[in-house]
Amino acid sequence: MVVDSGSIERVGVIGAGNMGHGIAEVVALAGYEVVMRDVEEEFVQDGYENIEWSLQKLSEKGLIEQGPADVLDRIDTTTELATAAENADLVIEAAPEQMEIKHDVFGELDDAAPDDAILASNTSSLSITEIAEGTDRPEQVLGLHFFNPPVKMDLVEVIYGEATTDATADAGYEFVESIQKTPIRVKKDVHGFVVNSVLGPFSSEPAWMVSRDEATIRGADATLVHERGYPMGPFELADMNGIDIGYHVRSEAGVPIPPIMQEKVDAEEFGRKTGVGYYEYEDGDGADYGPDDAGDFDWFRVEAMMVNEAAKLVGDDVATPEAVDTGMRLGAGFPEGTCKRGDALGLDRILEQLRELHETHGDDRYEPAPYLVELVEAGHTGEEAGQGFYEYDTGSGPSEYTTLEWELDEDGLLEIVLDRPERLNALSDDMSFAIVDLLTSIDEEGVRAVTFEGAGDRAFCAGADVGGFAGIEPAKESEPTKVFQTVAEFPRPTLAMVDGYCLGGGLEIALACDLRVATEGSEFGFPEINLGLLPGGGGTQRAIRMLSDARAKELVFRGEHISAERAENWGLINRAVEPAAFDEVCEEYVSDLVSGPPIALRKAKRVMNQGRDQDLDAGLDLESQAFALLLTTDDAAEGTAAFSEDREPEFTGE
Ligand code: NAD
Repeated sequence: MVVDSGSIERVGVIGAGNMGHGIAEVVALAGYEVVMRDVEEEFVQDGYENIEWSLQKLSEKGLIEQGPADVLDRIDTTTELATAAENADLVIEAAPEQMEIKHDVFGELDDAAPDDAILASNTSSLSITEIAEGTDRPEQVLGLHFFNPPVKMDLVEVIYGEATTDATADAGYEFVESIQKTPIRVKKDVHGFVVNSVLGPFSSEPAWMVSRDEATIRGADATLVHERGYPMGPFELADMNGIDIGYHVRSEAGVPIPPIMQEKVDAEEFGRKTGVGYYEYEDGDGADYGPDDAGDFDWFRVEAMMVNEAAKLVGDDVATPEAVDTGMRLGAGFPEGTCKRGDALGLDRILEQLRELHETHGDDRYEPAPYLVELVEAGHTGEEAGQGFYEYDTGSGPSEYTTLEWELDEDGLLEIVLDRPERLNALSDDMSFAIVDLLTSIDEEGVRAVTFEGAGDRAFCAGADVGGFAGIEPAKESEPTKVFQTVAEFPRPTLAMVDGYCLGGGLEIALACDLRVATEGSEFGFPEINLGLLPGGGGTQRAIRMLSDARAKELVFRGEHISAERAENWGLINRAVEPAAFDEVCEEYVSDLVSGPPIALRKAKRVMNQGRDQDLDAGLDLESQAFALLLTTDDAAEGTAAFSEDREPEFTGE
């Protein structure tokens, strides 16, 4: 009998290295008791100190509610494997990536752990089925593949070995949700699982193209980043991760090596760690490509191949399109899911491209996936056809999200709750995506006003918590995302209801709203400057347009928190109210917004937002055009009639 997720209390973590210490940290943060094991006391200590350091940072940034000491209290360390396993309901192994070691560890775990305990491996590239063979309970073994660094990266792949039961996978899936990460189900033990499989052509195809003189390194990186929105170019990424690591994984898997990669490995130019890789780090400026280098690179070929990989996974029932897309966004920092992108590009065009490449080069890796062929033959060529990987013609609208709660009531009030209370509702990639997805897919006609609030009682949103490619530079993490603009441009009135911390990315969300009401104890601030950054989601620009020059600059330059009272005095928020009156005051605002004339509110928002950035004459023109149009609406007639009849108007939006 396997333990169910509800009864998991104690977790063993095997390995205190890069991944092990990070996994122990996120598991303890979620309230579990953890015992972390490494082979030498020195390694255990290093891991523990890394956790201490990281918790301190999270706490300084206001990203965790608990004190670091409380979390550390839940982490024990040991050099004895049996001590980590004997009382564990779940053990997560993060030892070195060698099958022999994994077999030894799983054999020992099988002996030491309780009979109903689940044994999980964090392996990136080894077979779960083979690892499970080291035990007498292969049905209770699964992959829980965290991304680096676990504290920042939201995704965990939940991988079935051949013998893994649904009960084990379900328990693993629910456990991942319970530690506030996003799980995706990988239903078969394929090499690379989901994320690394789809990422394969992103890394290797540009290397083949450069090897054949069909592309340049800078051209490939610049085009994929500046034109296609990926967070990092493939060569830059390889240099960061180590060219030798990618080489090793490919050789182990028996995958052909692009000549340029072989050359780099032969010359021991592995990337950043050796000072030179595809770019020069020691004697040069590193990955110094810019937008001007973009243009000539054939990105379509790379994307077509990634879509083909996705089609293999979906067709072989390894993962659903939703799982693939969540994986690519959260695990690799892709701007949108690969299946979604395939549907937008047109699966027929993609198939044609693959067939052409297959014919020209005769290489297996261009061979179209049977499922892709099937989709195209069925006429399911993507978004334009109404169906591809996804269906588009159902008008099904937005869906469920893990980090966002939302409800549209019958009055047309769309209530959005930022829902990561254990991280003070920090704005993650997943949450940003969910906000954009919700606001762009909901039928806007049915919405009369939107409110944003934070879950729990400590924060509206305490900052940005953005993942991306593993180990991405912090300076890149803060690049503006679509989310703030989407909120600002949503055509209906928006209200931020702030109770608690409203910092960094959280303040940017609030500033992108039209109105802000807060409890008196709330705190506002842009702490980015303390990290050597600046508010990167439009915060500097919105603040300087909203406040006096001096106040906006104080907020950004000093990085200090200001009270709700001061924020009200400055004009950063509409009202600061006593906690006891907060709900009532918010109600009053909401009631005015949802019962107000929809067309007039929409026009007013538009002309005020657009006019703000233009000179007075242009702004006045916008206003008078809108005014003339409103005079022709039923709502204007109803408003004047109700006024003269001394009754409440009933606006219909016509
Ligand atoms: P690492 O080398 O940083 O850490 C491995 C740790 O395991 C070391 O501290 C080592 O002393 C210890 N160790 C060795 N034998 C052990 C044993 N028998 N019991 C307990 N500990 C033992 O490696 P890492 O980067 O943390 O990778 C660990 C696993 O996680 C690998 O399977 C790797 O593929 C996977 N992974 C790594 C990343 C990444 O980006 N680093 C991402 C996802 C998954």
